Amino acid sequence: MVMRMSTLFLRTLREDPVDAEVVSHKLLVRAGYVRRAAPGIYSWLPLGYRVLRNVEAIVREEMDAIGAQEVHFPALLPKEPYEASNRWEEYGDSVFRLQDRKKADYLLGPTHEEMFTLLVKDLYSSYKDLPLSLYQIQTKYRDEARPRAGILRGREFVMKDSYSFDVSDESFMRSYQAHREAYIKIFDRLGLDYVIVDAMSGAMGGSASEEFLANAASGEDTYVRSPGGYAANVEAVHTVVPPPVPYDDAPAAHVEDTPDTPTIETLVDHLNERFPRTDRPWSAADTLKNVLVMLKHPDGSREPLAIGVPGDRDVDEKRLGAQVEPAALDVFTEDDFAAYPTLAKGYIGPGVLGEKNASGIRFLVDPRVVEGTRWVTGADAPGKHVLDLVAGRDFTPDGTIEAAEVREGDPAPDGSGPLELARGIEMGHIFQLGRKYSEALGLQVLDENGKLVTVTMGSYGVGVSRAVAAIVENSHDDAGIIWPREVSPADIHLVATGKDDAVFDAAGQLAADLEASGVSVLYDDRRGVSPGVKFKDSELVGVPTIVVVGRGLVDGLIEVKDRRSGERTEVPLSDAVAHLR
Ligand code: ATP
Ligand code: MG
Ligand code: MG
Ligand code: MG
Repeated sequence: MVMRMSTLFLRTLREDPVDAEVVSHKLLVRAGYVRRAAPGIYSWLPLGYRVLRNVEAIVREEMDAIGAQEVHFPALLPKEPYEASNRWEEYGDSVFRLQDRKKADYLLGPTHEEMFTLLVKDLYSSYKDLPLSLYQIQTKYRDEARPRAGILRGREFVMKDSYSFDVSDESFMRSYQAHREAYIKIFDRLGLDYVIVDAMSGAMGGSASEEFLANAASGEDTYVRSPGGYAANVEAVHTVVPPPVPYDDAPAAHVEDTPDTPTIETLVDHLNERFPRTDRPWSAADTLKNVLVMLKHPDGSREPLAIGVPGDRDVDEKRLGAQVEPAALDVFTEDDFAAYPTLAKGYIGPGVLGEKNASGIRFLVDPRVVEGTRWVTGADAPGKHVLDLVAGRDFTPDGTIEAAEVREGDPAPDGSGPLELARGIEMGHIFQLGRKYSEALGLQVLDENGKLVTVTMGSYGVGVSRAVAAIVENSHDDAGIIWPREVSPADIHLVATGKDDAVFDAAGQLAADLEASGVSVLYDDRRGVSPGVKFKDSELVGVPTIVVVGRGLVDGLIEVKDRRSGERTEVPLSDAVAHLR
């Protein structure tokens, strides 16, 4: 069936919706793909629904190809299975909860591990039944805190979720790999520019997981990558700086005098000589900002009174607290270094943590920079707040950097060079669940020896509705959307221009011929709409090939335009079907 613009349920808009922040949200609303029903809840209009179903079709084909079987669960679910897995609690405010007329608790499924586990438990009992992979493409509900990016982060959204069931770990790894490879095919076919990163398992639990992130500045996930191929969601990077060594266990401090009149330059030289860094040399900028922390010994004794950072007021009362003598809270300047030759008795470099406690500040040190560090101690006391005087980052009490605080240039945990930060949109997530759900819900089968074993599971999600938006994030220009052909609402956007009946007759015939040869057509057959408006709409809507039937028809020619490159070619009408197929 040719889609005709004259009757299509579509109104394109010239203005961006006021609540839209990301480009996919703006374009999908303006081009008439979706409409907001409530915050984070969207209706799909004819063009949008076609794209959504195209994405679903790709996902379905690749799932079927690895032997996964499609099922369909309800979205309205009883509380009990989620209580058994503890997720009724764990999910907190992000679950939509409701009660029936008898006051029994229900939820709208945010993900379905429990239900799949119970279904398999219900029907299967032997190792001979496994391996098994089941999937569904279904509406999920999460009461997201900030649903502000259109269908990128819906409170109702479409997810493909699959679950694998295996009797052994080796067999499980095959199921996991099969899913991983299917995901690569899916995201390749969706035309996304994406990376696979190590990820945290979050509320899903389990041991290991990987995410497929579409590269996009608007992405809400930050990941790190190194030239050596390391890639991880920052949520998962815990050990960029190794846990610090408490003062008492640290190697003996090595104290040394700095050059006689320490200027910033001599300090930088000294740092480079004594504590060379692998990723980049120390520079005056580091020193002046907040890298170098000096110990103050005005009387020449070994008892430090305070710490400071040359030229930086960052280390102030707020950070060091009242435990330090107020008089000692001066910010050090270059003059201080000149005035107090004994000032620079030691260094505290990057990776040094100060820990506030009742009687002062205690330092914990990254073992890689321990050399040459001078120590400051106070009595141990609970209630510590650990701060990184170096880089101005907060550390968790176990000494790791808060996930969101990983910095550009930090070493990769696998030692493969300085990390670079990038933004991405989480498109897919594959989890090695292990036995978390099968144990909680008692999914066991008899093995070859008649012994009961707990089944090993994986779960695998694709953001199907999110993919529609992510593709737009990856593929658009100022004029509108540019769909990859496989997901486009039509293969050809056919525009008839002018008032001449012959043009509309020829265009109508061409549309029918194209459809008959398997090419889907969105036909702009509107009368009395200017060519300018039609061209603008065609660019906004984003079908990858635009065909214009108009003035050239008198010479038997039509124009074929590539939406992405803008390249135009004239083609004889008689060759059109062969050319466009
Ligand atoms: P996010 O980090 O973006 O909140 P998630 O890690 O909570 O996602 P998962 O539980 O891993 O999501 O769900 C599997 C997939 O479902 C995700 O990889 C993502 O593509 C999609 N998804 C999750 N939440 C949403 C949402 N609110 N709107 C649209 N798609 C979503
Ligand atoms: Mg989430
Ligand atoms: Mg996530
Ligand atoms: Mg996830």
